[in-house]
Amino acid sequence: MQFHVITLFPEVCAAYTDASVLGRAQKTDKGKGAKVRGKKIEVKYYNPRDFTKDKHKKTDDKPYGGGPGMVMYAEPILRAWDKAVGKHVRNSKNVGKKDQKKVKTVIMSPRGRVFTQEVAKEFAREYSHLVLISGRYEGIDGRVKEALGAEDMSIGDYILTGGELPALAIIDSVSRQIPGVLGTFESLEDARATSGETYTRPETIVYKKKKYTVPKILTEGNHKLIESYRKGDASLS
Ligand code: SAH
Repeated sequence: MQFHVITLFPEVCAAYTDASVLGRAQKTDKGKGAKVRGKKIEVKYYNPRDFTKDKHKKTDDKPYGGGPGMVMYAEPILRAWDKAVGKHVRNSKNVGKKDQKKVKTVIMSPRGRVFTQEVAKEFAREYSHLVLISGRYEGIDGRVKEALGAEDMSIGDYILTGGELPALAIIDSVSRQIPGVLGTFESLEDARATSGETYTRPETIVYKKKKYTVPKILTEGNHKLIESYRKGDASLS
């Protein structure tokens, strides 16, 4: 899966996607034991500022019709999109059939369809390129959505100052659905996503003079009981 993020703050996002599980998933895995070799994901960044044509590299302007805030220009974003995936799209020139890849374009917007685990699975299954367009200020000129046939997507019923966190949330959860991104241990954790609390050493901690001990069932070694406990059998806790 290739993620293409169009954002005014690529370095902010890259700090996150280069770390830990996502960072590893972008490296070539040549290990003998690796189930899926090679890079599992790629994350590329495009700054609309680099696709402006004026000397001030202006990316936003006042909204038509008045109102507060600034709106991001459509054209630098459209040029960034062309650079990212233009060559993979059916209607572009000089594209041989085998170069045509499944491209999905998503615009971060608090008014869009709400992103869920189901959507994460759908994206991982259906597409090989996911373009995530992050807004700032009052948002993005509406013609971007129209021109690219993009979908608005929200990560929840609250308003953030920009689309960077939403884009990262989507990259993170879609990546977890891609074979080989999670190690065996973490995959097990995935299957238990809906299970209860987890604990690690030490068995007892003391905080402000009060003792907190791990549920007994988890330390006694009865694996059947442990499984039922994890499946949420509350009578066991
Ligand atoms: N008044 C604007 C809000 C802009 S918030 C509106 O109604 O659309 C600034 C940017 O942050 C948006 O362009 C969007 O990219 C991002 N954003 C804010 N909250 C978000 C959310 N819950 N989900 C996805 N993107 C969000």
